[in-house]
Amino acid sequence: MNRDATPVLGQLGQLGAQCNLCGSAMPAPGGDGTDVAALACPACASTPARRVMRRVFQALPAGLLAWRRHALEPGRHGVDPAWFGAPAPAGEATADFMAVELDPQGEAIGAALRRLTARGVLYVSGAARDASGSAQDLLQSMTTLLATQGLPCSVIAIDGADPGGAARLPAWLLLREAADAERWRQHLAAWPGAAPMAAGPVPDRFAPLRAELGYWQASGAECAFWWRDDDLIEDSAALRRLAALSQRHQAPVLMAVIPAEADAALTQATADAMPTLVYCQHGWAHVNHEAPGQPSSEFGPGRDPQAAEADLRQGAERLRALFGARFLPVMVPPWNTLAPALAARLPALGLHGLSQYLFQPRGAPLDGLVRVDAHLDIVDWSAGAGVRDPEMLVERLVSILQSSRAGRLGDPLGILTHHRVMADGSWRFVEQLLALTADYSCVRWLDPRTVFAAMPAGEGAPCAA
Ligand SMILES: [Zn+2]
Ligand SMILES: [Zn+2]
Repeated sequence: MNRDATPVLGQLGQLGAQCNLCGSAMPAPGGDGTDVAALACPACASTPARRVMRRVFQALPAGLLAWRRHALEPGRHGVDPAWFGAPAPAGEATADFMAVELDPQGEAIGAALRRLTARGVLYVSGAARDASGSAQDLLQSMTTLLATQGLPCSVIAIDGADPGGAARLPAWLLLREAADAERWRQHLAAWPGAAPMAAGPVPDRFAPLRAELGYWQASGAECAFWWRDDDLIEDSAALRRLAALSQRHQAPVLMAVIPAEADAALTQATADAMPTLVYCQHGWAHVNHEAPGQPSSEFGPGRDPQAAEADLRQGAERLRALFGARFLPVMVPPWNTLAPALAARLPALGLHGLSQYLFQPRGAPLDGLVRVDAHLDIVDWSAGAGVRDPEMLVERLVSILQSSRAGRLGDPLGILTHHRVMADGSWRFVEQLLALTADYSCVRWLDPRTVFAAMPAGEGAPCAA
């Protein structure tokens, strides 16, 4: 016996299909070349996607919905707002139920998921598809999209079909809690004529980092990060992307500028528009002076000391003139390498900070020079400027934080980016890291001026040489 008032799919051909929103008879789909994916109800104008949504939600007991506060655009959906609790007030940060359409980059899904409460549910409507592919494929495509976007949750993929037509339209339910997802899946599967379904979790690539930050949070210790970006020469879309990201997450950036290539146009472009960027010196011209086969360096052991010092002095003077008070007298040597004899000369040039990379050897501390390195290079240099596996980056981050927790690393954890060459995947990692750390009140993204606060005062002017 069919408890459902809606005819099961197999009977549609004989009985003539009905719109499941208003009960009107639907025109025969596809008979005169009409687009089945756009078949509107002649009476209520419902779309196939709305009828599929209605069908999915008809299977659910009211109690699953009744307490949820929804954020639904009026008239756009196949659910009845009366099934839910009160609408979430406009402008409210969170809601228990939302519905969005699938977008290829998952941006709408990401924005909605971030608003979703812990017991919330997000309904995603897909576009019409052909008959090939299974519910398992739908699950796979959604979990891949969400994993790439760093949006862990539980997914129920539904291989839906228009009850008033012939279109096949997928839908997904996204829930935060795995136990909730399982309960919803059981209710959906128990419905006679239920569409084929598959369910599973989105792997959380950041889970080890969340666990580590959980320790910091519980211990009450402050977990300090800082951010350095190298090779700045001019204004660009990538620079604006970095500046916007920095500002949105209130994570200031130390920008290592190549002095020989910077000019007043850069100073102007960055002056007011990029308030969270601070500037420092990245060598002189980023030119390698070492012999073939030796590690690249602009200021390595192969360089004539007088010529090298003249370059460093010239660079510092130029950046002071260009950036004034926004210049922090810190040297980031190109390729992160600097001959120790030249490092010792930095304070005499008015440069009281030095930043290299974690694995560069550390000699004895030098008078008047504060060294704070970067620890995690986001870019994979083994393959052009490739994207590192996020899981590898997370593992690295966690091991550095563990060292720090064990007292083996005194400095804040330095993230290193290269805005000019980064691929989308690398940007995404940085964005996801910034968004994740915002969930932990123990995390602070330090201003570079704080990172190098131990530098001698009067840092703007060169010391007597
Ligand atoms: Zn209708
Ligand atoms: Zn560089």
